[in-house]
Amino acid sequence: MTANTCPRDFEADEALSEGIKIHWLRTIKDLDSTSLTVEKMEIVDGRPVPTGVLETLAADSVILALGQTTETAFLAGIPGIVFDKDGTVIVDKNMMTGHDGIFAGGDMVPSERTVTVATGHGKKAARNIDAWLNGRSFVKAPNNPSVSAEQLSVWYRTDALPKQQEHIEPEIAISGFDEIVGGLSMDEAVYEAQRCYSCGNCFECDGCFGACPERAIIKLGAGLRYKISYNLCTGCGVCYEQCPCHAIDMIGESEVS
Ligand SMILES: Cc1cc2nc3c(=O)[nH]c(=O)nc-3n(C[C@H](O)[C@H](O)[C@H](O)COP(=O)(O)OP(=O)(O)OC[C@H]3O[C@@H](n4cnc5c(N)ncnc54)[C@H](O)[C@@H]3O)c2cc1C
Ligand code: SF4
Ligand code: SF4
Repeated sequence: MTANTCPRDFEADEALSEGIKIHWLRTIKDLDSTSLTVEKMEIVDGRPVPTGVLETLAADSVILALGQTTETAFLAGIPGIVFDKDGTVIVDKNMMTGHDGIFAGGDMVPSERTVTVATGHGKKAARNIDAWLNGRSFVKAPNNPSVSAEQLSVWYRTDALPKQQEHIEPEIAISGFDEIVGGLSMDEAVYEAQRCYSCGNCFECDGCFGACPERAIIKLGAGLRYKISYNLCTGCGVCYEQCPCHAIDMIGESEVS
């Protein structure tokens, strides 16, 4: 078995318990319809190097899971598109390639090649595509300052434990090809998303709205958050003290320009 990322210990243990045999440090030298010739490797200075020792393994199928490359050849004829040396496509800060109106992201562009990066690229590209189609430029609002755990006010919230991974007996795991480590159901995904405090960013929990003794906090509607009537606000600080995610800051009047 070869892999571009090492499995975590429990994954290797699960594979072994399901009867998988792992041949560490082998590289394929030759193959035919019934067998593989592999060369044993050894680690020298942290890197696998060939030993010249060959071994034959019976096999009728090979699934290669080594390395990640992106097929970008189909873009080669498009004017303006520029490729990095690994074949990925160069994009600007708006995720647009060198060809006006063609955007790219995720594994297709030089990046860390993870799901979170690809998802973020998708969001960023979508905003820029929308702006481009409407003849505008997308201008990202500045990020709020980072908030530390000590600044959160979560004393009145209950703990919600994350979903625990079920243990599946090997006999059941090998009884078919159904997914063993499933994703979240719709209800679980909504529940998990609600655990997020979106630190530093208001998530419209209505806490400050309900707590303000002066009714100085005005709801602006779903997604539009709130505004504070400074004519009504006495500066008591209740909203600031109970905001779970520290989205409200109190500053001295002298600091207001
Ligand atoms: C074995 C392996 C394990 C990984 N493990 C992790 C991990 O644990 N955590 C992590 O964060 N990341 C992991 N990654 C990386 C992660 O999967 C990728 O970074 C991520 O999926 C990239 O998303 P993407 O949308 O850019 O590309 P993809 O998810 O590859 O989506 C591209 C889509 O485009 C389709 N497509 C391709 N060519 C065309 C075409 N010409 N026309 C139309 N459609 C086309 C493809 O079929 C595919 O559906 C792993 C990757 C591999 C290969
Ligand atoms: S400012 Fe804080 S308390 Fe008020 S609604 Fe937003 S997250 Fe809740
Ligand atoms: S400081 Fe006090 S009065 Fe002012 S908005 Fe917050 S809770 Fe209301």
